[in-house]
Amino acid sequence: MTEPPSVHRASRANPLDDALHQLGEAVATLGYDEGTLQLLSAPRREISVAVPLRRDDGTIEVLNGYRVQHNYSRGPAKGGVRFSPDVSLDEVRALAMWMTWKCALMDLPYGGAKGGVTIDPSRYSARELERVVRRYTSEISPIIGPERDIPAPDIGTDAQTMAWMMDTYSATRGYTVAGVVTGKPVILGGSLGRASATSRGVAHVALAALAYKGMKPERTTAAVQGYGKVGRGAAEFLAEAGIRVVAVSDQFAAIHSEAGIDFAALGAHVDATGTVRGFRGAQEIDRDQLLTLPVDLLVPAAVEGVITDANAGDIAARIIVEGANGPTTVAADAILRDRGVLVVPDILANAGGVIVSYFEWAQANQTYRWPLALVEERLKERMLAAWEDVVKAADSHGRTLRQAAMLTAVERVTQAHESRGLHP
Ligand code: GLU
Repeated sequence: MTEPPSVHRASRANPLDDALHQLGEAVATLGYDEGTLQLLSAPRREISVAVPLRRDDGTIEVLNGYRVQHNYSRGPAKGGVRFSPDVSLDEVRALAMWMTWKCALMDLPYGGAKGGVTIDPSRYSARELERVVRRYTSEISPIIGPERDIPAPDIGTDAQTMAWMMDTYSATRGYTVAGVVTGKPVILGGSLGRASATSRGVAHVALAALAYKGMKPERTTAAVQGYGKVGRGAAEFLAEAGIRVVAVSDQFAAIHSEAGIDFAALGAHVDATGTVRGFRGAQEIDRDQLLTLPVDLLVPAAVEGVITDANAGDIAARIIVEGANGPTTVAADAILRDRGVLVVPDILANAGGVIVSYFEWAQANQTYRWPLALVEERLKERMLAAWEDVVKAADSHGRTLRQAAMLTAVERVTQAHESRGLHP
């Protein structure tokens, strides 16, 4: 099998090193022993699968797939499935660990998991992708299920992917199992408000962070990296709140307009062409330049490892809200802390998606649908309550928001584990 070229990054560090470093720091601060560190470092269960695909031209190609359940002390494992050429077992392990902390921080009754297939979905037909999704699902089906591990969308997957996953899993059981995945189409029991939930959550905490810094939305500028499931909605919600969003980017190009981007026009352009490139209402700039533009608020909402020790010193924003998982490396985090940049960590900032996934799972288990207004109100409540708790914990001990969030999460998982005890 030949590995397709990366469409996201030229080079990358291993995100698992950063995830383990963050965990090690939290465990040391909490004074936990080496055994606890080992227990929290190693995924509880992981599976690597071959995903043979018959291509439309009749040839066969074998893809690599993974599902990692980092922890399930607090409940079923939970987390997305990523389809990207950059997917590797270590990346999935890091993302699974971050899901454990995210669910614990948000006090959801879940552990953390992640899955992925190493594939560039743009190079395959819809029928080929359906076959990949179905085969991947049947390969991991022994370890997933509404009480075991509940997948959801991530980069390169969407509501249609979840519909195929649910259908494949249900076919093996002989009845419809709506609770096996979240982020499904609404027609199949997906929650109202799930598709925009991560973006809404990012906007809620971004506005809270501005208020905390005494900044007014209408006098604030922002740049958003990523124009997919998270970045697009986040940019639109920030603009609706009065923030002047001057730059956005996707995997092809970055665009800039000092007057602020017209998102209705950009949305129509992206729907028609599939990219922000070529949008008439802004100038194209270098993609890397987006991160260091002179803006107040920066929202990295694409992939991990984009804010590094090479560019952290040049970031002009006073606030960074992590829409992506793991966008800031450990080395960059230290530089930003020293420079007084407020970083709202991923496990807080982008938790809106998994919060509404939890609502969707609860609705599936009750076969009772909540109205959109209730979903959005409860999402906002949970995001802002978590924001307040993390800020309070950080300020009272002189810690960064990431350190405070990690301590809360790691403590909750450890307490759950300790009160359950070890099965011999
Ligand atoms: N993939 C999303 C995340 O990273 C959502 C996970 C979920 O809803 O389970 O948080």
